[in-house]
Amino acid sequence: MSVSPSQHIVILGATGSIGASALDVISRHADRYSVFALTAHRDAARLAQLCLQYSPCYAVMADKIAAEELRRLLRDAACRTQVLDGAQALCEVAREPEAHTVIAAIVGAAGLEPTLAAVRAGKKVLLANKEALVMAGQLFMDAVDSANACLLPVDSEHNAIFQALPGNYSRMPAAAGVRRILLTASGGPFRATPLAELETVTPEDACAHPVWAMGRKISVDSATMMNKGLEVIEAHWLFGVPARQIEIVIHPQSIVHSMVDYADGSVIAQLGNPDMRIPLAHALAWPERIGSGVSALDFSGIAALSFERPDFARFPCLALAYRALEAGGSAPATLNAANEEAVKAFLDRRLGFRRIGEVIDATLEQAAQCGAACIEAVLEADARARELACIEIDKRSAA
Ligand code: NAD
Ligand code: MG
Repeated sequence: MSVSPSQHIVILGATGSIGASALDVISRHADRYSVFALTAHRDAARLAQLCLQYSPCYAVMADKIAAEELRRLLRDAACRTQVLDGAQALCEVAREPEAHTVIAAIVGAAGLEPTLAAVRAGKKVLLANKEALVMAGQLFMDAVDSANACLLPVDSEHNAIFQALPGNYSRMPAAAGVRRILLTASGGPFRATPLAELETVTPEDACAHPVWAMGRKISVDSATMMNKGLEVIEAHWLFGVPARQIEIVIHPQSIVHSMVDYADGSVIAQLGNPDMRIPLAHALAWPERIGSGVSALDFSGIAALSFERPDFARFPCLALAYRALEAGGSAPATLNAANEEAVKAFLDRRLGFRRIGEVIDATLEQAAQCGAACIEAVLEADARARELACIEIDKRSAA
């Protein structure tokens, strides 16, 4: 088999959970991949370790203080990585001509502009940062088309759907005989918790996911199931499937990562151990296949694969996400921003778990609807939603 020349990789959000999984896969294939740039928010010590290990050309920190700290650490270790700072530098490394592949693994809205910069530069973009697509779906997909970027989903469900669709699929479900997308969900840590107990659950309870070890924001999103709501919107944009043809199926074992239901009654699923190195390895090497370090699925060790309907009363965030998708325009950006603020307040113990959905609902009610055709409109909707959400959080945190 021919091995392609070494591909230069940028990891936006290298110090996070996805960043660690991506670096693990890359380390296994030093002949194929080299690390060109790594970025982090404020954890200079961790990024310094990664720079010493992978010797990227560039490292980017969110602000000048963190960047100065990183420079000092690298100087002491005689590391030659060039350190940059700020949101603009994130966009610059994402569109560097020498970079071939950009792994978008920043959490939240902060990832939108650098991910879009990579898309506009026509890169191969491995998308983990679902919030970017939720906020600016139309704009994002238009940019993919006009720059002829190669957008590959890393979110395990969307990567599974991508694998279950025909190779020449082009966002037209009817033409491909696709009847439904079946998005699987573990149901999170509170799938069976008595409703009354949800009033008093803590950030630690919410972050103790039964299957996946992830960053804190997505862990809370999994507990409220807003993660699945965001994923419905993500699937809509990635695969051109209307909301009514995207169904959520609860599957607590997280072995089936999602399915495509075809007109003839065939259902094609992708299965595997729940480990993000699988979708990352798939997307890195696509259309080839490489090892991910994940062990083979042991069918005799799986007691059962079970499937249930989601409980929309227990998880109001699901209906809020469908509502925002149906409303279109700036509504998904509003939903995302209100959710980010509410999750932050919950993690800071300023807001109860069950108030998260209430804050998002109230924000969606009050925010003026506008279009989302340009980045300025999306960022404006995001900022306005954060203001409204903070007012709603304050009302509830005093109680
Ligand atoms: P994480 O919190 O572990 O890591 C986030 C990364 O983003 C870190 O490197 C952090 O330094 C960086 N970052 C955070 N805020 C930033 C800012 N304002 N500016 C610049 N950088 C910033 O999160 P994660 O679990 O790795 O998730 C990353 C993304 O991938 C999220 O969008 C999440 O929804 C998605 N995702 C994660 C998983 C998973 O298993 N962890 C699965 C599917 C999708
Ligand atoms: Mg997912």
